[in-house]
Amino acid sequence: MLSARDAAGNEITTERRALGEGVEPFSCIGCGNGVSFVAAFPRELDGKPHTVKAFFRLRPKTEHKENCVYLVDKKVAVLASKSVGLVESLKNGQYRFRLVTIDREPDDKVHTAPAPKIKPGGKEGRPSPQFEPSKSRRLAAYLSTAKRVARLRAACESDESIKDHLQLVFSNEVVSWNDFYYESERFLAAFAWVGNVANSFPIALQGRVRNVVTRSTAKGVFHVLNLKSVKAIPLSSDPTIGESGEASVWSRQAEWLNRFQEDDEVLAFGHWKQARQKPVRLPTSVASFKGFLNREISMWLVFSTQIAKLSEID
Ligand SMILES: [Zn+2]
Repeated sequence: MLSARDAAGNEITTERRALGEGVEPFSCIGCGNGVSFVAAFPRELDGKPHTVKAFFRLRPKTEHKENCVYLVDKKVAVLASKSVGLVESLKNGQYRFRLVTIDREPDDKVHTAPAPKIKPGGKEGRPSPQFEPSKSRRLAAYLSTAKRVARLRAACESDESIKDHLQLVFSNEVVSWNDFYYESERFLAAFAWVGNVANSFPIALQGRVRNVVTRSTAKGVFHVLNLKSVKAIPLSSDPTIGESGEASVWSRQAEWLNRFQEDDEVLAFGHWKQARQKPVRLPTSVASFKGFLNREISMWLVFSTQIAKLSEID
């Protein structure tokens, strides 16, 4: 929450609280339960300090009261109402979202540079979907819903806050939120999951854009959006090596990625794959590790709507 009510009854935003305004204790504007202020704090992205914005959160082991607008189950119900039946209502106020594979990948060899599809006349084929209109509409609705689901999780403090309200299912099996949603701090976990799972469902990565670059290869031109990575951690088999998780999104369509800029906070949803292992990189300056191992996953966009700015997901 970005504002709360103070003891004098005034609404205080995080910006005003950071300047020392407002009288303790603070309470939720929706239900009056006690909340506390968490000041902005530093985090490291791409080796540079980056600030996590301040917020108000509920005191430990408390929940919002029934009918509070900040209650997760109310937000899930709103999400379900926008989902054209894709988020189903279960018993006891619980909901279910079925993950489905995003089929028709234009090429699954993105890591080794996909071969362009050549049409008669020599023009490169665009990965434009050839679905029947109804299937296309269904997929568009599915992608919007999946992004809303991931954004709802992004607004929660942890998997714990949402898992009892919204269940994720793939191939008739309940899947863990932990396996579905990854912030920058967990890109390494995403790398491990992608490498271990046999029947993979699409997953959501949330991160900040480092850059969008163009890569020309013998197979053609690609546009690549790279996400910033967090501080390397010691590799378990050799603690002198720092291990870090990297993620990138690939497309042949410049306009699908060029609309993003450095530091945009984005959600990217789809089928991620492990990129080819790169050799250990030596540090370019004084570093806490004698070498770095970047574990990279990447995703090939089938639809432009698989990636969006967090602020633009309605
Ligand atoms: Zn509340």
